[in-house]
Amino acid sequence: MQFDRLRLSGFKSFVDPTELVIRDGLTGVVGPNGCGKSNLLEALRWVMGESRPTAMRGEGMEDVIFAGTTRRPAKGQAEVTLALDNRARRAPVGFNDTDALEVTRRITREAGSAYRINGREVRARDVQMLFADASTGAQSPALVRQGQISELINARPKARRRVLEDAAGIGGLYQRRHEAELRLNGAEQNLSRVDDRLEQLA
Ligand code: ATP
Repeated sequence: MQFDRLRLSGFKSFVDPTELVIRDGLTGVVGPNGCGKSNLLEALRWVMGESRPTAMRGEGMEDVIFAGTTRRPAKGQAEVTLALDNRARRAPVGFNDTDALEVTRRITREAGSAYRINGREVRARDVQMLFADASTGAQSPALVRQGQISELINARPKARRRVLEDAAGIGGLYQRRHEAELRLNGAEQNLSRVDDRLEQLA
């Protein structure tokens, strides 16, 4: 899916509402040290459902909210919206009837994160699956952070295979298999409990 625009408000150093247009092809972010280049990449990962604060260089997820400066007070919430071109209709069923998609994540202090797709409230999993199926998840190699190239060169073959699998768009299938296995284990445990009860009654 093509990314069209990224909107940030209260996210890390982007305290004021900011909108960036993302054009076709490779996008690079350049600027002086500390101007917020990595924060932009983190905003992209975050709106795609990143759940690890450490991947956002924080201790807790609320660390992504603008923390204030000597001149400006801290914010109470952060919001990031990613606008996507869905003319190729690659969005999952239920979200696939419009040419454009807007995925929004908002975090409010003490209240955690909430996600919306085209204004409709959804679960984190729905957003994570949407991007995993489109080969652009929060951990996608399409977003190249500092140090990632050398990590990749030194990676073990299994880790490299994971990169290829993500690029092929099958990351979502692994997640679904994992969830199916958990449900299967739950069902097996329930069945064995039923067997125990039946034995007690016999
Ligand atoms: P470099 O080129 O050195 O890697 P960069 O352009 O990637 O830098 P970032 O690391 O994205 O810059 O941004 C760092 C800036 O973001 C710092 O000034 C830091 O104070 C600010 N920052 C990070 N988190 C927050 C936050 N929660 N609230 C306010 N400012 C923040």
